[in-house]
Amino acid sequence: MPVKFSEFKDTLWFATAPNAPETVELEGETVADVCIVGAGYSGLTTALELARQGVSVVVLEREEIGFGGSGRNAGHCTPTFTHYSLPELRKVLGAPWAERLIGRQTRANDKVSEMIARYGIDCEWERNGYVQGALFPSHLKTLRAQMKAYNAVGARTRMLDREEAREITGSPRFYGGWLHEEAGGLNALAYARGLGRAVQTEGGRIFTQSGVTGCVREKNAWVVQTPRGSVRAEKVIYTTGAYTVAGWPKLEQTFRIMRVFVAATQPLSAESQAAVLPRRTTIQDGRGDIYVYKYNRENRIVASMFPMGARGRDPALTRQILSDRLKWLHPDLREELQWEFFWYGELDMQRRTVPRLYGLAPGVVAMTGLSGRGVPTGSMIGGILSDWAMGLAEQDLDLKLEPLSRQPLYMSVAPQAALRGYRLRDNLRALRQGALLPPHA
Ligand SMILES: Cc1cc2nc3c(=O)[nH]c(=O)nc-3n(C[C@H](O)[C@H](O)[C@H](O)COP(=O)(O)OP(=O)(O)OC[C@H]3O[C@@H](n4cnc5c(N)ncnc54)[C@H](O)[C@@H]3O)c2cc1C
Repeated sequence: MPVKFSEFKDTLWFATAPNAPETVELEGETVADVCIVGAGYSGLTTALELARQGVSVVVLEREEIGFGGSGRNAGHCTPTFTHYSLPELRKVLGAPWAERLIGRQTRANDKVSEMIARYGIDCEWERNGYVQGALFPSHLKTLRAQMKAYNAVGARTRMLDREEAREITGSPRFYGGWLHEEAGGLNALAYARGLGRAVQTEGGRIFTQSGVTGCVREKNAWVVQTPRGSVRAEKVIYTTGAYTVAGWPKLEQTFRIMRVFVAATQPLSAESQAAVLPRRTTIQDGRGDIYVYKYNRENRIVASMFPMGARGRDPALTRQILSDRLKWLHPDLREELQWEFFWYGELDMQRRTVPRLYGLAPGVVAMTGLSGRGVPTGSMIGGILSDWAMGLAEQDLDLKLEPLSRQPLYMSVAPQAALRGYRLRDNLRALRQGALLPPHA
């Protein structure tokens, strides 16, 4: 059954991003060294890396630049891994793959800063750090272990005691926290459109409204077909993520979709800004059932959560939960909150929650499964995919090339089940340790 994606134009970013660069639909036949399918961060950063090296590159996008997760995410850019600790990741991926990916991911924000500065991308980029709070005492131990592991690979992070956590976040609820100084936030669609413009500046071509319908081998080249045209290329890279539609058989089976919602308040008063994130960091409240928030340029709070039960489905209840949680975390916040923007998006979840590179045929690869840290990951992944396109030997790539494999059926329910499990675990720990539970926990 075809997937119906959420509405793209509901987002705060669509209302506030600079215009998209000019693009047209592909009509007729054209030729390139490399054809990239999908104009999200992954496709665009790959195109950018290649175009900068003088490779002729065409990007084909079914809708418009940033239509997928790249135009509608919550905009926090934290160069860590969401699900796995670094020791767990080393076990899952093994040597040398884990260390290579860790190296790329932990330096991703330097890459983001470099691209934004080089191409003058106007996307609200603020590198004001990310705090993961501890809402019960024993969480501090886990956070301390994370800090040590990340610092050991060169990240600049540190622990906050209760006082400093309050000073930086404005919340008296945390027993302490973990501050990642190099993290940042941005306007998701403005960044995607800026990357698109950068690709064009470097001589890459982007065609929108040009959904790939098939890819066939003809006389030593691949012919990538769209409804009104085709690209003849030596190499083809699919970066269609959660928004994959056709393009290559069974590619959509490499992940399962999980929905996320994001909401944004009215611009807050100066008094409210003093009570909520006075240093404009991004914050994750530290629960497994995550609540993440940050400011945008207009001083709106942009918050995201996963839908669960009626949360996300019932608009009034969802707004109530978002407000109650924020007010509980920041008791000095007096202003009534209007959630003026509310939107959904889709994640390409897969069991290992790190990107996977699939060899589809000689000269054709696909990468899916960013699973929720896509702003930094999609920004650094262009380095890996362009290495592949430039002919780097398989064993020297920073992602292992694998045959296409489908996600097990249980992945349709596993992320939601895990979320409920985390919620129960956190509630039990908080209660045992005499910590208060947030509303609607
Ligand atoms: C609501 C939401 C909130 C999120 N919040 C965060 C966050 O705060 N921080 C963070 O790090 N990550 C976040 N993420 C994850 C992140 O946004 C994604 O992982 C990332 O943007 C994926 O980038 P991508 O380039 O791989 O794919 P996408 O951006 O999804 O791009 C894929 C593109 O391929 C196109 N396409 C599909 N099929 C075809 C075809 N046949 N032919 C041509 N084009 C095609 C699609 O139209 C789409 O534009 C969030 C995601 C969502 C949905």
